[in-house]
Amino acid sequence: MNASLGAGRYAPSPSGDFHLGNLRTALLAWAFARADGKRFLLRVEDLDRVRRGAEQRQLDDLTAIGLDWDGPVLRQSERLPHYRQAIDRLTEAGLTYECFCTRREIQQATSAPHGPMGAYPGTCRTLTSSQRAEFRAQGRRAALRLRARRTQFEIVDELHGDYLGQVDDVVLRRGDGIPAYNLAVVVDDAAQGVDQVVRGDDLLASTPRQAYLATLLDLPIPRYAHVPLVLNATGARLAKRDGAVTLADQRELGITPTQVVTALAHSLGVRAQTSAQFLERFDRARLPREPWVLGTNGLLQHDRCP
Ligand code: GLU
Repeated sequence: MNASLGAGRYAPSPSGDFHLGNLRTALLAWAFARADGKRFLLRVEDLDRVRRGAEQRQLDDLTAIGLDWDGPVLRQSERLPHYRQAIDRLTEAGLTYECFCTRREIQQATSAPHGPMGAYPGTCRTLTSSQRAEFRAQGRRAALRLRARRTQFEIVDELHGDYLGQVDDVVLRRGDGIPAYNLAVVVDDAAQGVDQVVRGDDLLASTPRQAYLATLLDLPIPRYAHVPLVLNATGARLAKRDGAVTLADQRELGITPTQVVTALAHSLGVRAQTSAQFLERFDRARLPREPWVLGTNGLLQHDRCP
């Protein structure tokens, strides 16, 4: 490991126990970083949806599957002044505006037949100060949005290649005053020296927004690798309700963390019994590009390596 070689990271939200999909992504993020001689950092994204005790259980699970990390764990809740600074900088550059739209109004606007799907259409971009005052008088609280100067941005992804995606007036600070994920992640990756982001491919579509934000803040854009998710038997993203999907559930079935690692490695086309073996043997160019679809009854009985 060499600090000048940069860092990778895993950035879980402490909203509950990890399921096998989270553990599989963590294993990959760790293996990518370690294979490149990078530091591997952990960041707890606790601005939202925190469940008591979840952070410690998540860290324990990572240790149980043989992952290690460098330095103290960073918590976003301890970094609010840094997000504020970044938001102020964008505001001073004329790149923000207040948005009073309700969730419902946004939903209606973003599903309108014109305009890119899901992109905020800029309803509040041109509000006058008296219109803003009127909204405030109605008791509406303003979110702060980016005044984006483009509608697309291209990023490079190790698995997906060049990816051109939508950029819109992303929320920087929510109506309740909490900095938004897309802003915090950009500020934190840069502050932590993260130059390699390995995460689930459900986040690929948000990545052009984040990379664009980084350029506006004069921050470097990391290298990305968006890895396939784990799906349940119906093809939906794995969730707690899908049965025995956590390490604790698996333990109750008599399946050890080592066996879980073996199954995760197997799902990635690698024969390995430990994370260390996985690291030695995996080849990022040959990782599956398709999601791993689990069986119906809590899976590992089916998917365990022979
Ligand atoms: N905290 C996010 C999640 O748990 C991940 C964010 C990221 O890796 O950038 O889904």
